[in-house]
Amino acid sequence: MTGGEKIAVILDKCVGCTLCVKVCPFGAITMKDKKAVIDLTKCTLCGACAEACKFKAINIDKTGSKSDLSGYKDVWVFCEQKQGKVQTISYELLGKGRELADKLGVRLCGLLLGDKMDTACQDIISRGADRVYYVESPKLKIYQDDPYTNVLTEMVKKHKPEVLLCGATTIGRSLISRVAVNIRTGLTADCTGLDIDMGERLLLQTRPAFGGNIMATIISPNTRPQMATVRHKVMKEAEPQAGRKGDVVKETLPEDMYHSRSKILDIVEEIEETVNLAEADIIVSGGRGLGSPENFEIIKELALVLGGAVGASRMAVDSGWMPYSHQVGQTGKTVCPKLYIACGISGQIQHLIGMKSSDVIIAINKDPEAPIFGVATYGIVDDLFKVVPMLTQELKKRLK
Ligand SMILES: Cc1cc2nc3c(=O)[nH]c(=O)nc-3n(C[C@H](O)[C@H](O)[C@H](O)COP(=O)(O)OP(=O)(O)OC[C@H]3O[C@@H](n4cnc5c(N)ncnc54)[C@H](O)[C@@H]3O)c2cc1C
Repeated sequence: MTGGEKIAVILDKCVGCTLCVKVCPFGAITMKDKKAVIDLTKCTLCGACAEACKFKAINIDKTGSKSDLSGYKDVWVFCEQKQGKVQTISYELLGKGRELADKLGVRLCGLLLGDKMDTACQDIISRGADRVYYVESPKLKIYQDDPYTNVLTEMVKKHKPEVLLCGATTIGRSLISRVAVNIRTGLTADCTGLDIDMGERLLLQTRPAFGGNIMATIISPNTRPQMATVRHKVMKEAEPQAGRKGDVVKETLPEDMYHSRSKILDIVEEIEETVNLAEADIIVSGGRGLGSPENFEIIKELALVLGGAVGASRMAVDSGWMPYSHQVGQTGKTVCPKLYIACGISGQIQHLIGMKSSDVIIAINKDPEAPIFGVATYGIVDDLFKVVPMLTQELKKRLK
């Protein structure tokens, strides 16, 4: 149970009908002497039982929940590392985390789990953290669900951060959902925007909802920490500031925290044959306006001249013109290159979510009303079959 919230069975009203047992999604209710008994270690206060009970025999009191939140402070960023190297998603979160911490008037803290990574702690401070909590053990060198979940849960319980941010990476998604369940707090996945409601000190977590048709802003008013994940490349990296000062708090936790039920046998790196879309500085993307897979050649030629990667809209991918690994957008990759050239792409919200934070966007589309022009730095209203080859020829000459 969290934050002073209470749930109780009113024994006089309970008739032992077992309806609550059937509807509880967490298996938290059993019957004893024909009365419902709630296991508070399993109950999440979701309210399904109270709603289902025809006899109003289950009472949930959430009124006391806010009073216990005052002990939580600071904004934390889980700093993901691979092979001892802090991943760039962490720098992106530190940039946004700094903004949030300044608004709240609290410290920005990085949380690092690893082995022999003292230099990385200074790196995290140089990117904006006031403090780094560093849990060091050879058993934390490589990510594993059990030890990382145990350590993060313990650290959150001990230090009580107000906000905890994590990358929506493979590791982040696996880890943070487990931690949220352990701590019984809310978690908003894949946020595209984060801000603070200053009146209530609440984290405003914005993400696409209903298939990307609306942007929903979600809050966690009753539990702490307020936890959110953010996809890679949605936010700008915090730049390193030489000489920036902060403190490093090294934590040692009991050995049993590092126990893992799984064993890593081998790590196999994925080999990318082309420029990695998510890391590319220049991306030339094509959409349905290309009309056929063969026509994608003009997109590939322009990308080649610029030394960039090839992206695609979902329409182009669904039509089988490009493999899924090239898809940009809500259900594809989020990218943030220095230059994004969108050719024959209308710019529906699900595509824009994946590329709108690019530094410079050039849109080529024959429809002047296409929504892509709403985010474009430069717009060319013309036939892409005329413009793209011309651009390629001209750039070939100039970039020789
Ligand atoms: C849950 C969900 C998730 C989604 N996820 C994604 C995603 O990750 N990524 C994504 O891209 N989409 C996604 N979509 C689909 C999205 O809604 C759009 O359908 C898609 O982005 C449209 O692709 P498009 O712009 O290539 O095609 P269209 O919308 O058909 O646009 C084609 C454009 O090409 C222009 N054009 C045509 N011929 C020429 C020419 N000769 N010269 C210049 N311009 C020309 C047209 O004017 C038009 O604007 C998702 C949708 C849903 C519901």
